[in-house]
Amino acid sequence: MQGKQSLHEPNIKKLYLYWDCTDMSGSNRDDFTPNNKRIMAERVSWKCSFPGCGRNTVGPHSDDPTKRINNGIAAHIHAAASGGPRYNPQMTPEERKHISNGIWMCRDHGNLIDTDYTVYSASTLLDWKAQAEKRAADSLKLPTEEFVNRDATLIQLGSGLIYFVHWNSIHAQNWSFELVAPLVGSQELLNNYVLEFDSLIEPEAYVVIESQGDARRILDIKIEISSSGKFILCISVDNKPVATNPYDLGANMALDNTGDIYIKNGTIAMVKGIDNAKQRISTCMSTIKGEISFAKELGSLATLYYNEYKHDLELLSRLILLELVRLSLIPMDQGGISDKRPSLHFVKRFTCVDIPSLELTHSRFKANIKLEWGNGDLWDGEIPIYVLKA
Ligand SMILES: [Zn+2]
Repeated sequence: MQGKQSLHEPNIKKLYLYWDCTDMSGSNRDDFTPNNKRIMAERVSWKCSFPGCGRNTVGPHSDDPTKRINNGIAAHIHAAASGGPRYNPQMTPEERKHISNGIWMCRDHGNLIDTDYTVYSASTLLDWKAQAEKRAADSLKLPTEEFVNRDATLIQLGSGLIYFVHWNSIHAQNWSFELVAPLVGSQELLNNYVLEFDSLIEPEAYVVIESQGDARRILDIKIEISSSGKFILCISVDNKPVATNPYDLGANMALDNTGDIYIKNGTIAMVKGIDNAKQRISTCMSTIKGEISFAKELGSLATLYYNEYKHDLELLSRLILLELVRLSLIPMDQGGISDKRPSLHFVKRFTCVDIPSLELTHSRFKANIKLEWGNGDLWDGEIPIYVLKA
């Protein structure tokens, strides 16, 4: 862990300079007041809002018993000054310095969201802020043990391993996680996965991260033990594929709510644009992985998860999100029809999934999904997912 932190040092220094500048009087930045920064931090229990990080940002000063240290940052969602990350010229100075335009982060992640701001859009940060405030609210109510697991994020490695983890560090395409506990699989299976990584078949060499809605091909993987004795999983990942425009999908035959071809006035009805994209998500999730004999990789584990985790709607929603993220970002064999590509290549990012009830209509449950299409448009709504009851 010590070694990893040194990777961030140059950036941290740069950031200190940046933040020192913000306190200069007479600047034309729309900065938060010290009071608003404090409230922003308190509303997330002084923890980093980057999902899966949760690092504490405040503590006692080591030399001075009357002082505390604060390692957090009140980052702007829309930049404080023109030319900055996610700057929105439509906003007034009052809106820019308003507490609603800030998100509390540790220094590493505050730096990350401003360096790579095409990936971390304003809507992403607003979602993360809401999630962090919800975690802080939950932490006031839930017993500690239950909360610790909820605070961890899920990662999936290949088709057989899902782990609760905390983010340890992120540096370009080298990510590391502190292992918390397995949900699917075991420590032994994980050790085997890592040891035998070089001989794995290509379709198994991928990772999906719940907290960032990201999934990548794995280039290299290892387990290290930190100075405090924790297991750290280090992964080097491939580039993210570029999402496509959902309007380029063209038209397709419309399906009715039982999954049959929809006949309207004696002719086959068609869907196009976003309706077609929504239908593609539904059919992709409703296909049971492995059921298509000439393309075994296609489809999802929705049926498996539904039958296994129907006692826990929150966990089921998180697992359905993992599947959607995997299907939108991991290239796979599409049955020889075209090149290898992600099944849901027209979605840039799935933000959140909420399954309000397990009630089935025509063997389908409804998932409320928030996403960003490949063309940058945001959408949220219901997607029906077919399952085969065990
Ligand atoms: Zn952080």
